[in-house]
Amino acid sequence: MKRVYIETYGCQMNVADTGLLYGALKADGFEKTTDPAEADLMLVNTCAIRENAEQRVVGRIGELKRHKREGDLLGVVGCMAQRLGDDLLDGTRHVDLVIGPDGYSGIGDLVARASDGERLVDVEFKSWEHYEEITPELDGGVSSFVTVQRGCDHRCTFCIVPMTRGPERSRKLADVVAEVQTIASRGVTEVTLLGQTVNNYNDGVDDFGQLLRAVGQVDGIRRVRFTSPHPNDFTDNVMAAMADVPEVCEHVHLPLQSGSSRVLKRMLRRYGRDDFLRCVDDLRNAMPGITLSTDIIVGFPGETEEDFEETLSLVNEVGFDDAFTFIYSVREGTPAEKLGDRVDPKVAGERLQRLIADVRTIARKKNVALVGKTAEVLYEKEARRGDLLQGRTRSNKVVLVERGKDSIGQYEEIRITGTTGSTFTGVPNPQRRALTVV
Ligand code: SF4
Repeated sequence: MKRVYIETYGCQMNVADTGLLYGALKADGFEKTTDPAEADLMLVNTCAIRENAEQRVVGRIGELKRHKREGDLLGVVGCMAQRLGDDLLDGTRHVDLVIGPDGYSGIGDLVARASDGERLVDVEFKSWEHYEEITPELDGGVSSFVTVQRGCDHRCTFCIVPMTRGPERSRKLADVVAEVQTIASRGVTEVTLLGQTVNNYNDGVDDFGQLLRAVGQVDGIRRVRFTSPHPNDFTDNVMAAMADVPEVCEHVHLPLQSGSSRVLKRMLRRYGRDDFLRCVDDLRNAMPGITLSTDIIVGFPGETEEDFEETLSLVNEVGFDDAFTFIYSVREGTPAEKLGDRVDPKVAGERLQRLIADVRTIARKKNVALVGKTAEVLYEKEARRGDLLQGRTRSNKVVLVERGKDSIGQYEEIRITGTTGSTFTGVPNPQRRALTVV
C-alpha cells in the first residue's frame, strides 16, 4: 500500500477537507500514515488567512523535504496553494503538486502524473464542486465536521477567503442528510455544520433553518453545532429552528471584527454596531443561556483610539464567553491592502493586549459563576494531564472529569467544581443516573 501523510493548518473547513483528501486517495490505494518519513506522498493543507500562517508553511515545507526519498512526492494544497499557484511551484523546487480547495476530485490523476515526473498546478475554481462522489475519512473522534457550503460571496475588505475558496454554493439538503446518516451509523453523535457564512446556506429549495431541522432528526445525532455564521443571516426561520430543534447546541461563534460602525463600514461587513447588538439580543431570546464567542481584529487601517474604545465597550456590553483576537494582517490582493492610514504596529499591539485583558476578565467572571452548576458533557478525549477525560458541554465549555477512557463518546451529567478561568473541572453528578451509553 502506498502511504499518504497530510498536515493540516487553519480552520475547521481545512480539517474537513483533509478528511476528503484521505477519502479520495484511499480510493486510489493510499493508506494514511502519521509519520512523514514513511510516506510516499506528503501533503500540506494550508491556510492563507494571515501572513504568519503562510510563513509557518514555508518553513514546514523546508523541513518535510528532508523526508523525501527517491520517487516520493510533496504537495501543497488548500488556500495558500490557491493564492500562490504557479509562483509556489516555481519558488519551491521540492514541491511537486500545488492544488487549490476545488481540485481534490482529480488528486488521484494529479498524483499519478507527478509520479511520472510532472510538476503540476490545479487552482481552477469549480463552482459546482461539492465532492459528493468522495466519502470523507472520519478522524475517529466523537464529533465530526460536515461541510454544507463552500466559498463566500461577501467581500470583507480584509479577507482573502473569497479569493482562495471562490464563489458561495450550498450542497443539496438530501446530500448533507445522507452524509450525516452515514456518520451517525458509525457511532458519531455530534456534528458541526461548516460554511464561510453557514447560516446563509440555501440549496435553492431549503434554507439553513430547514437544514438544522433535517439534521436534528437524523437517528443517533444528539448534538448539532455550526460555524461560521454571518450576523446578517440569522433570519427568523433560522432563529426558529435554533429554538425548536433540541439537538442544536446553545453556543454560537458570532464574528464581530470591530465594535465601531465606522470601521465595520471600511471592512464592508454590511452591519453596524447596533445591528450586531440586535442580532445578539435575538439569539439570546431564541436560545436563553446561549454562549457567544467571536472574532475581533484590532489595528485595521484607519482605526482610531475612539474606534477601538467602541470595540472594548461592545465587548463589555455583550459579555462574550470567548474571543479570538488578532492584529490586522495585510493580505495581498484584498481591498484593504490599498487603504492608507496604517495603524502603528506598537499601537496595534498595545490595543490587542487591552482587548485580551477585557475578554479574559469577562470570560473569567462568567465562568466562575458556573461553579456548582450541573451540565451534560460529551467525553471527547483524554485530557493532557492526569487520568482525566476532556468533556464538552452543549454551551461549548471544556470540563475535565475523572473518568476512564472507555467513557469517551459517552454523555454524562456533571457538576462543575472549579475553573481556571477558561476550562473547568467537574465530577459526575451523583443525583443523576450514571453514564448515558450511546
Ligand atoms: S464573510 Fe467576510 S470574513 Fe467571512 S469568509 Fe466571507 S469575506 Fe471572509
